Amino acid sequence: MTRLPPAVGLDDFDVAAQAGLREELAAVYREFRSIQANSQSGLDEPGQIVARQVCPGCGAATRDTTLLFSKNNIPHVRCNHCDLVYTLATLTPSADAAQYDGNEFMRAYVELKRHPLYAKLEIAKARYLLQRVQAQRAGVRTVLDIGASTGAMMAAAGLQGLDGYGIEPDRAMAELLGRLYPQRLINGYFPQDLSQDWPLFDLITLLDVLEHMVEPVCFLESIKASLGPEGVLLVQVPNFNSLLVQMDGPKNSNFCIGHWQHFTAATLSALLARAGFCALEIGNCISELDRIRDYPATQVLTTTARLLGEAKTVETPAQLYEYGLGYKLYGLFALTSS
Ligand SMILES: [Zn+2]
Repeated sequence: MTRLPPAVGLDDFDVAAQAGLREELAAVYREFRSIQANSQSGLDEPGQIVARQVCPGCGAATRDTTLLFSKNNIPHVRCNHCDLVYTLATLTPSADAAQYDGNEFMRAYVELKRHPLYAKLEIAKARYLLQRVQAQRAGVRTVLDIGASTGAMMAAAGLQGLDGYGIEPDRAMAELLGRLYPQRLINGYFPQDLSQDWPLFDLITLLDVLEHMVEPVCFLESIKASLGPEGVLLVQVPNFNSLLVQMDGPKNSNFCIGHWQHFTAATLSALLARAGFCALEIGNCISELDRIRDYPATQVLTTTARLLGEAKTVETPAQLYEYGLGYKLYGLFALTSS
């Protein structure tokens, strides 16, 4: 029996909770953000753009929406039926796929994520999420991470005593991971490139993936065939109702080409329910409290009043999480029994 490393707490991967860490990461982030800004100058090649016809959450017509704002020439709207926030346009499948393989932005993204400090935080976050899963389902053994990226979830799976598998579209990232995990990493897309030799999984993880899917319900439905009978799905997305996103507004980097919908705890659960999943647990993490403190205290009060129905001061990460205002939202879902 191997001994697991000590449990991970929410502060262990919260940059704002660790003195000096933001400064250490600042230079790496600065370069990343400038490359991201340059790669997101707007959609001005009409052949690469597809107008959506229906809400990706509930299928209601796109005219039945409320405009929130436009960014990069893309209107961001809220569905009047299901409240999901989504973009009225997406890229064509080939233009969308080109974003995730072998371009300058992906190189910068890989460099950021490979930075030892950042990698340590990502692995700690993945371990925290796996701990939540293991608290609900002690028998979990096999994990498939869709969008394995630099391998934080696969590394965390190993540390938690689980067998990690991954699928990743970017060739350079997949090659590196393939050397670390022979036979357990595929370069390609889920589900079409999945190995026939792989088992059904106890757990499938989607970290920062669902917001990228043009048709998220179809994608979620395709996952069921790879889950074992007691299988669970772990989803992590940016939190549209996080305090920082709501104070930043449209300038927040989550509103970017490639993020085609934006979730709250309610709209995430509703979308998963449409695909046949029920929530076992919903939570939030990553406080970004230092960035929140750059705003006037009065703005925190007006924003919390708008989000929570009551003005609140936020002094600690724990308070922020209690109000559901963390930067990332996660949910653990089981198959709805039919
Ligand atoms: Zn809708």
